[in-house]
Amino acid sequence: MRIKRYGVSLGMALAALVLMLFTPSLLPGDIQAESGVLLLGERDGYRLYAGETPPPGSARFFDRETLFSGLLLYVGRDAPLPADLPVQQARDVRSMVKLYIPAAERVALSEQTIYALCDLVRENPLVHTWIMAGMRSPAEQQAMRKAAFAGYQATMTIEQALEKARADIPDSGQSEHQLNTCFDIRLDGLHDWSLDDPMARTADGRWLLENAWRYGFIRRYPPEKAEITGVRNEAAHWRYVGAHHAAAMGTADWCLEEYLRALAEYGALRLETPEGKSVWLLCAPLTEGAASFIIPEGWIYEVSADNLGRAVCAMLRP
Ligand SMILES: [Zn+2]
Repeated sequence: MRIKRYGVSLGMALAALVLMLFTPSLLPGDIQAESGVLLLGERDGYRLYAGETPPPGSARFFDRETLFSGLLLYVGRDAPLPADLPVQQARDVRSMVKLYIPAAERVALSEQTIYALCDLVRENPLVHTWIMAGMRSPAEQQAMRKAAFAGYQATMTIEQALEKARADIPDSGQSEHQLNTCFDIRLDGLHDWSLDDPMARTADGRWLLENAWRYGFIRRYPPEKAEITGVRNEAAHWRYVGAHHAAAMGTADWCLEEYLRALAEYGALRLETPEGKSVWLLCAPLTEGAASFIIPEGWIYEVSADNLGRAVCAMLRP
């Protein structure tokens, strides 16, 4: 009797084992796809995933002007901004609000960037931090290079001075300062900018490195990513990219180059917030400057070209 009972349970165990072994092939396709899900990063309750299928919706078409007014344009010597870039609206930081952060004269930034700065300093008034340089026109960028050349010429040959000015100051259209979302900061009490990472040497700087991504800001050229960005002398250059993209980059510890590469590679990423919400980050190729995304009914979204031949859409259920 006991042996028989044992035999039965052994048979059941074998059946269960067989079932377990073959179960994956019996699952519907969408559940099987779960096995391809990748966790790309985790930070303070945020999680970034790849390999999931975005929710269904209807296709929406975005024109070139809309996409090139977005927050994720890559700008560099290898990818200058298009000459016909939509006009970047900007306001002087100090003319708009009483911002609790000292700013040099005429720091031109978008209203969206200034409002985000207000949110940030409301949390932590950065009284020892100055905003120094905002948006420059192409002519101002060229004037900067000319001024650098004139300065170098005092101690170098014309050829050497020209070469150094070209190396130090990007040409017009090749600097992020042609965007209305970028600025440099100066940290009071810090005099030696030759240090490996000057941002990490003051309390304000450390706070920004730890928290600015929560407000939509990224340090654009982290010294430890210089091999990837190709930029070594801009440790205090910051950029507003919006809360969703900054949170995704902060969660995976990516610079913009790494983020755009991942979007192109995976096509879709999902950022899970500490509240359990999902932000979908989609990437699509540009066709004659335009792109379309599948967006569920009633969802909110924002789109941007990446200036590298693709467009990106961040979307979530409101
Ligand atoms: Zn800068």
